[in-house]
Order: sequence, then structure tokens, then C-alpha cells
Amino acid sequence: MLQKPKGTYDIYGDKAIEVLYLKKLIEALMDKYNASYFETPIFESSELFHRGVGETTDIVSKETYDFKDRGDRNLTLRPEGTAGIVRSFIENKLYADSLPLKAWYFGPMFRYERPQAGRYREFYQFGFEAFGSNDPMMDAEVIGIIVNLFNILGLKGIKVNINTLGDKESRENYRKALLDYFKPYLNDLCEDCKKRYEKNPLRILDCKVDKENEIMKNAPKMVDYLNEESKNHFEKVKEYLDALNIDYTINSNIVRGLDYYTHTVFEVEADIKGFGSQNVLAAGGRYDHLVEFIGGPSVPGVGFALGLERLLLALEKEGIDIKEKEPLDVYIFGASKEEKKYILSLGNTLRMNGFNVEIDYNNKSFKSNFKKADSLLAKYIIIIGEEEVKSKILTVKNNKTKEEYKVKLDNLIEFLDEKLGDDDED
Ligand code: ATP
Ligand code: MG
Repeated sequence: MLQKPKGTYDIYGDKAIEVLYLKKLIEALMDKYNASYFETPIFESSELFHRGVGETTDIVSKETYDFKDRGDRNLTLRPEGTAGIVRSFIENKLYADSLPLKAWYFGPMFRYERPQAGRYREFYQFGFEAFGSNDPMMDAEVIGIIVNLFNILGLKGIKVNINTLGDKESRENYRKALLDYFKPYLNDLCEDCKKRYEKNPLRILDCKVDKENEIMKNAPKMVDYLNEESKNHFEKVKEYLDALNIDYTINSNIVRGLDYYTHTVFEVEADIKGFGSQNVLAAGGRYDHLVEFIGGPSVPGVGFALGLERLLLALEKEGIDIKEKEPLDVYIFGASKEEKKYILSLGNTLRMNGFNVEIDYNNKSFKSNFKKADSLLAKYIIIIGEEEVKSKILTVKNNKTKEEYKVKLDNLIEFLDEKLGDDDED
């Protein structure tokens, strides 16, 4: 039997209800922020992800799905959303419009990772990017989106961790300090960290292997290497977070993987036992040089990405149920095979008039049709027989109260509109 590839999963049934529910909720939230929806290609030129942006990152060094197409082009399944949005922002000259531009996306990402709970090879991210403001107010606003989403969902025990990487100058000073500090300890670090030392020593601080190592705990802290401007930016971010009533913790070990981050970086964590490093539900930061780096003008940006699977797991662990089924408005079945055309056409008419309708395709028994209507949470049931077809008077049954109404075919839509309108109010 053919099976799905390792690290992937199917979305159907309850999972599908949950995913659609979250997507709708996110869409409504994004409307409130005046954010524009983006869909960029699932695959892009490999160059977009591999050109330096992250030559020093884990994503790019080992996690991408790279392939050649039949035209011998080097392509990569996107491992994250930001690079594609930035490419689109530049290619479509969106920087010429009035900024800031707030962009959001929702879609699959691909990384060749070791699958485990909350870690897949194809996974979904909701992401947000704001282009064209270097004001710390935007950093706080962006973090606020994640907090608001979790509040709307009722997710508790969430922790916002923030840090700053400062601007280019501060970062360079810090980099030098780290190189000096780690040099005598190189042999005590893991193999990956040895590579990181060469390429991007900041990444050493993000190591999951050496995390508990004493050497790590005593490493120089970024805060001590910030210049005035960088300090200022961070102070303001904190003030704006306070203004939004967002609790946060400053965690100097947050560096994020990608080289392009400047100033604020953050991670939003759940506190769920057994989640381990999968506790991070969303992460992001400011990237004031990325647009330029990918070939556009100098436009600052700040954004985040949130993993859908981890959010769903967190909701489940907290006992928050979002898989509520939409009730069906009307279920229609016939007394015999003779009414099939009638049912088909009546169902079609009702759907085109705005009702959610299911019909019986298989001439099931009365009993199993009633059962089916119940399982679909049908509000009304219409049974069509010879008599109904002839008289054009239908029997419409309220599936909850079991009350029956005789309704003229011509009045059916009006009748249902009225009844279902009432229903929605109680
Ligand atoms: P981690 O440290 O857990 O590997 P990351 O730093 O690689 O995460 P980002 O690239 O910042 O993650 O992506 C943001 C979010 O996307 C993560 O917080 C997580 O919720 C989700 N995510 C990342 N990788 C995966 C994956 N392989 N499977 C499922 N979700 C993921
Ligand atoms: Mg990762």
C-alpha cells in the first residue's frame, strides 16, 4: 500500500475542521490589522534561500528540499515564508506604494528534519511581515498579534521571550567578543558549534546540545555590547509592550537562526510538558537589511512565523476544542427512487439561495436517513414523496423540536430564511 512520505500528514475530518477554523480566525484578525494576504510560490529559485541570507543557518545548510526541474533550474521547496514575501515585495515594487505594508500568509513549508511531535517535514505556518517602519512601535505591534491570537483562542500559560541583537555595529562588536570568549573552549563544544564558531558564533548560543553547558551560561551578553541607538530601540520596544499590557521576559540566549535579524528578536512559548524544544509556537524579529540583501532598496521589516501544528497541539493539551462542526441547514431525502431528480434540483436551488444542504444520493432507508441527518446536525429535514411532488406542498420538519410544517414550494425559501434566521439568534 502506498503511504505518505515520512514527516508529512493528511488533513481531513476533525483536523480539517480545526485548520479551516484557525485560518478563518486568523483571516478575521488580519483584517483588523489592515494586513494584506500573500501567496507566493511553494518553490522558488534555490538562490533565494541559499544566497548568503542564511549560508550560516541550519535551515539552509541541511534542511531544505532542493531539486532541479526538467529545464535544469535549481529550485527549493520553501523552508520558510519571509524570503518569498520579500522577493515578491521587491519584484512587484511594492516599496513604491505607501508604507508600511503589512503582509500575512498561511501555507505549507518544507524542511528535511527528524520528525517528532510538533516537528514535520511539511508543516504549516501563519506568518506576518511589516515593511517600511523602523519604529519600535511596530516591533511591539507585531508581537501583540501573536498574543492577541492566543488570547482569542483562550490559550493560557504563554510566555513571550524577547531579546535584541542590536544594529550592525553592535552585533559586530558582540561577534568579536564571542569569538574571543569561545576560543579556549572550542574543544568542549559540539561539532555543529565548532562550525558555527567559524560561520556565525551567535548561533552557538542557540545550540540545543550545548544548552546546559557552563561555558554557555557565562558567555558574554549582547546587552553589554549595544550602542546607544540599539539600546534606545530596545528600551522603546519594552515601553510599547507595556503599553499593550504584554508580559515579557528578556532572554539573552534568543538569537534566532537567520543572519538577517537586527534589533528585536522574540519567541513565544507554550509551557507544555514533554514538548521540549517544540514548545516554541511562534518566533520572529526585525530584519532591517533583508530587503536590501535580497536586491531591493533599503526598507526595514519586522515579522514572525507561527507553526500551526504546534498551536493545535497546545490547544489540545489545554483542552481547548475548536473542532465544532457547522450544523447543516437542511437534509433532503426521498421516499423512493422516483424523487431523485426532484431532490437533486431542490437541493441545488436551496444551496444557490444560501443554505447548507445535504441530500440522499443512495436511496437509504427512512431510518438511516434520519440518522444521517442527526449526525450532520441538520436543523431541518425535508422528505419528498409522490404526494409532495404533485401537490407542491412540502413537509418540513424541525429536527430539534420535531415540529412539522406544511410549506408551499413557492414559499420554501422565505420559510427557511425566517426559521433559520430565528435559529441563529438563540
Ligand atoms: P525550532 O527551533 O523549533 O526548530 P525554528 O527556529 O526552526 O524552530 P522558525 O523557522 O522560526 O522555527 O519557524 C517558526 C515556527 O514554525 C516555529 O516556532 C514552529 O512553531 C514552526 N516550525 C518550525 N519548524 C517546524 C517543523 N519542522 N515542524 C512543525 N513546525 C515547525
Ligand atoms: Mg528549526
